[in-house]
Amino acid sequence: MFNTKEKYPFWVTGIEDIEKILACVKKGEVKELCTSAGGRSVKYVTYGKKENYNRRANYSSACGAHDLSCYADKKGKRHTLMLIGATHGQETEGVAGIANLISLIETGRDLRGIAVPSVTESLKTSDCRLVIVPIYNIDGRARCAPDSMIGEPMESLRHYGQGNWRDGTLCGWPGCKKVHPIKESAGFLGAYFNDSGVNLMHDNFFAPMARETVALMKLCDQEAPSCVIGLHGGGNTTNELLQPDYVPAYINRELLALAEEIAEKQTALGLKSRVRPLPTGECVTPPSFNLTSAIHHVCGAVSCTYESNEGLAENNAFTPEEILLHHYCLFSGMFSHDWNNITENFY
Ligand SMILES: [Zn+2]
Repeated sequence: MFNTKEKYPFWVTGIEDIEKILACVKKGEVKELCTSAGGRSVKYVTYGKKENYNRRANYSSACGAHDLSCYADKKGKRHTLMLIGATHGQETEGVAGIANLISLIETGRDLRGIAVPSVTESLKTSDCRLVIVPIYNIDGRARCAPDSMIGEPMESLRHYGQGNWRDGTLCGWPGCKKVHPIKESAGFLGAYFNDSGVNLMHDNFFAPMARETVALMKLCDQEAPSCVIGLHGGGNTTNELLQPDYVPAYINRELLALAEEIAEKQTALGLKSRVRPLPTGECVTPPSFNLTSAIHHVCGAVSCTYESNEGLAENNAFTPEEILLHHYCLFSGMFSHDWNNITENFY
């Protein structure tokens, strides 16, 4: 089913639809993050007043000083939390989650017309500042005509996501990472990439190729969020919370605690599955330093990747509604988690 929205009107994931939702934002503030490689405007929305964290040093230097308050003194202040949707353009589950979240915040009801106090109350109680980038890789989202992969075989996901080589064969995963930027080698450029063929998860973070990367790193640095969750789709996974590589152990301990809290919410809702916290590897020096790790190192956030079920025509397919409810558990888990202990665990 390539037009999920026809049957499930709450499945709002298109660029124009998200623009319309952002145009109706009254309680938050909508700003431009950057212009994409393809010249499209990447927007973000913020809720809650920005705190002055009294910055005296950048993050690396504050770590060197053994005092994170030199970077962001959060004592007694509200935390900032961040959600990033569609880093990969065909992974629309998080965009649908975000669209419904914004509707909940703005109107008290989601796009199904239902109030979800578990989300709205936990957000209110947390008193956090929330920063949302609904469609980060807007070029990839524009290139992906389907609004979900629900009911589709894995080959469709491979085609729309990772694209085809010039000879028409699927680039596949992880084969699509063998050429980067991939643009000149692609026959059909998948939604993984911006219009320059850059996979924003695997930019060169110390000398960025994509302007989207530069802008997002700057935003993370300016906001100093305590937690950043990148919303992805991971086939028919049971909603995994991936731990980032190259971060201190206390960051991943915090993520484990968060995953447990989210899982409790899923059980309470009667959902058939629980989020699984997944360590990405046992090696001390894993090979990949990706966007999730980079975000931590620019701002110290508990940074993670959420892999949502995509409802493919395979085993363990979730319905659109189940995918939405799992995102609600993720959001409310993020809002209600106690983020005050992170700096206390430092050194
Ligand atoms: Zn992804």
